[in-house]
Amino acid sequence: MSPPVATATRDRLRIAIQKSGRLAEPARALLAACGLSWRESRDKLFCYGESLPVDLLLVRDDDIPGLIADGVCDFGVVGRNELDEQDAARRSAGLPSAYREWLPLGFGRCRLMLAVPEAWQWEGAAQLQGRRIATSYPAIVAGWLRDRGIDAGVVELSGSVEIAPRLGTADLICDLVSSGATLAANQLKPVETLLESEAVLAGPVRGFDDARAGLAALLLRRMQGVLKLKDSKLLMFRAHRDTVAELSRLLPDAEPFVQLPGEGDGPLPLQTMCHGALTWQRLEELERAGAQGLMVLSVERSLA
Ligand code: ATP
Ligand code: ZN
Repeated sequence: MSPPVATATRDRLRIAIQKSGRLAEPARALLAACGLSWRESRDKLFCYGESLPVDLLLVRDDDIPGLIADGVCDFGVVGRNELDEQDAARRSAGLPSAYREWLPLGFGRCRLMLAVPEAWQWEGAAQLQGRRIATSYPAIVAGWLRDRGIDAGVVELSGSVEIAPRLGTADLICDLVSSGATLAANQLKPVETLLESEAVLAGPVRGFDDARAGLAALLLRRMQGVLKLKDSKLLMFRAHRDTVAELSRLLPDAEPFVQLPGEGDGPLPLQTMCHGALTWQRLEELERAGAQGLMVLSVERSLA
């Protein structure tokens, strides 16, 4: 009998990403920024990695946790909501966890929230006793209710959850919310957050013991580098020694200042990597505190 795919030795990494939808473009952009490039197959479901032995599988986001669990893919870019739901479902079926979150990716942010008809006066979870909740996340909702000792019905719907109360198939809903506009359009209001979600890099519970280990480490390091630099800028300026303490107080989101080589006893040439937004307003404030010749530079890549 051939060994199960999950334990088969492989020397290429395979990453599942959403084929189309909210996470598709940001996932590709992140992987491209990590230096990966691909040759696309004719069916556009499999992309063969060219710059590194890292291939892509383009699938529905719902399939990603299962593909990792079955060892068909090593990693996946998927919403925490989807990962946690399928993990909760596995556990309530008595199965062990088959994947875990390796790295939060900072895009696809949303919340899994309970939303009730606008006319309801929300008084807390106890109010849900005996009610029916429509959701695409039955395992998460069931776990949340169980933790609070509430007996409520969970109506599983795969889409258009927000119209369930109007149709009379449920009293309230639990769904993903980003702006809240869909809820408002359906006369619903959000009342409780069950999960703060974003896209994550999901991977096996344990690491790899073949050539994929090195590739996984390389990919992770590059991803961390890209994510760290996303909102980072290099800030260069000159300042007299007695203003440095105040300037670093104004830059709590920056690394310790580095003094560049310079001559004479004029202002010191300094630089720092700043991880927050450097608005005009902040620059003007720094200038008032003594920074001269302020310059903000974009950083392409860094292994720092
Ligand atoms: P697929 O065809 O791949 O199954 P889908 O319709 O399930 O697509 P999308 O609507 O593209 O998926 O959402 C993918 C993920 O984007 C969600 O699982 C969630 O993590 C994230 N997301 C961010 N904001 C929202 C939002 N407002 N509504 C739904 N999902 C959101
Ligand atoms: Zn989906």
